[in-house]
Amino acid sequence: MTPAFERLQKYLKQLPGLGFRSSERIALHLLVEKPGRLPELVAALQEAARVVHRCERCGNLAEGERCAICADERRDRSVVCVVEHVPDLVALERSAAFRGVYHVLHGKLSPIHGVGPEDLNFESLRARIEASEVTELILALPNDVEGEATCHYLTEHLPPGHQIKVTRIGFGLPSGGGVLYADAVTLRSALEGRRGYQ
Ligand SMILES: [Zn+2]
Repeated sequence: MTPAFERLQKYLKQLPGLGFRSSERIALHLLVEKPGRLPELVAALQEAARVVHRCERCGNLAEGERCAICADERRDRSVVCVVEHVPDLVALERSAAFRGVYHVLHGKLSPIHGVGPEDLNFESLRARIEASEVTELILALPNDVEGEATCHYLTEHLPPGHQIKVTRIGFGLPSGGGVLYADAVTLRSALEGRRGYQ
């Protein structure tokens, strides 16, 4: 291999889900097997990096200030579903079971992996509660130890003086799997069967 190839492979290997072999295969594919596709890929990366960012309100992907869900007047803004990652939101949207809005934390508390409250999208959730008419928070976080710790932290640090019902979904969801791997029917019953938390 060449130094530039190895540098590319090193960066690819740092991407989630890619190990040594898969990063090597991708680098070979891009540089040697299908080099004609490379300019399109580079252009798509640059364009996405330029226009895609976090919705300033909820943390979902957006190309303007607000994501499509926050900008949709028909959504019920008083009910906020808190999820770990954007793909969880996508799974819930696909189930068509929820007409409220979301808040994406972009992770869960994990002292072992060095993830503390300051690393998660907590502050903007506090700001939303303080500024808006949130009446219910639905915690759709993973039902593992870290998801549970995140739910506890969140409920303990709600801004004082706001009457908010906090509920937790989890009924019927696979242990540790969370919403991402659940089918639409399971997600719908998990939302309908949400229980009071606290
Ligand atoms: Zn949003």
